[in-house]
Amino acid sequence: MIEPSHYLSSTVKSLKPSGIRKFFDLASSMEGVISLGVGEPDFVTPWNVREASILSLEQGYTSYTANAGLLELRNEISYYLKEKTDITYSAKEEILVTVGASQALDIALRAIVNPGDEVIVIEPSFVAYSSLVSLAGGVPVSVQTSGEMEFKLQPSDLEKAITKKTKAIILCSPSNPTGTVLNKEDLEKIASIIEKHDLLVISDEIYAELTYDEAYTSFVSIEGMAQRTILVSGFSKGFAMTGWRLGYVAAQQEFLSAMLKIHQYAMMCAPTMAQYAAVEAIKNGKEDVMHMKKSYRQRRNLFVSALNEMGLSCHVPGGAFYAFPSIQKTNLSSEEFAEELLMEEKVAVVPGSVFGESGEGYIRCSYASSLEQLQEALRRMQRFVQKKC
Ligand code: PMP
Repeated sequence: MIEPSHYLSSTVKSLKPSGIRKFFDLASSMEGVISLGVGEPDFVTPWNVREASILSLEQGYTSYTANAGLLELRNEISYYLKEKTDITYSAKEEILVTVGASQALDIALRAIVNPGDEVIVIEPSFVAYSSLVSLAGGVPVSVQTSGEMEFKLQPSDLEKAITKKTKAIILCSPSNPTGTVLNKEDLEKIASIIEKHDLLVISDEIYAELTYDEAYTSFVSIEGMAQRTILVSGFSKGFAMTGWRLGYVAAQQEFLSAMLKIHQYAMMCAPTMAQYAAVEAIKNGKEDVMHMKKSYRQRRNLFVSALNEMGLSCHVPGGAFYAFPSIQKTNLSSEEFAEELLMEEKVAVVPGSVFGESGEGYIRCSYASSLEQLQEALRRMQRFVQKKC
């Protein structure tokens, strides 16, 4: 018998398993659970998008596409980005279609990180960032944000974390897990620090379609930033296409061709039938996206005001589909809160601590569930909070 752990890479051994999984596994073994844990739309991908994929299969388009993706799709992404950001990305040289935003993040980091380079991660953060930095050979450096500041990155905190080894920072607006949106002014302040310290930015804009209160500003639209930014986005959230595994990355040509090198060896290309679906989604999906967004906005308003009424104070998240309320008044840790809520009231939420140090004292609730389910979850949560306080 061999001892497999002797053969594993020390980097992989040092990675922590995602704290979210534990709750999914527990919740899925129980009956009658309302899950506010999952970070995905509750909509099925619109029919015209599914039909476009079926048609591609009927026509026999089952081979690889170009490594960078179908040119038709890259052209559509280029028009789309021009409209959203005012930056012209060349479809042939500056856009690469990936297997979800997840792969886009992975190759962006692997393309720029040398061993020991530091990459700044703003916490509470999407769980994959730090691990992907480590897997790329870099060192994740966390910068905390606070609930009092609605989890907006404070430029002075960013500046304090920068060292000679800092290569890049990862921004995520709208944010998973806090729903916080950085507006133009916030982004400009960050941009001036990026410029001053000559850094790169990986801007994860996967939730860009889902902003509810003000027009969305992409980091690449801030003067001088497009050349320093690897823009990561995709179809999972705004277009309700998580299972299709389709994302993309846009960046100036040299960054793009470095990422393409990794992609062509490690992945070859994104799934062909999903790429045909994405062409239809990006070309003709505007109305469906608007409809879904309207529905999330309505649910956000209901959910967040009910949380505040029961004393779980929560800023109004400007985007994505997450509420990140404080649970401090219960005197429970976020892990205890999530575990006890699941066991006693059968509602699954994610403890804020899995998203980093400053997530402690908070929980993440996804409001991408039906209004009926949200209302029932709120009734159970209110009962739970009354019992604990
Ligand atoms: N970035 C963020 C902030 C996310 O929340 C997610 C999905 N939870 C991803 C990237 C990955 O998305 P995809 O499905 O496109 O891989």
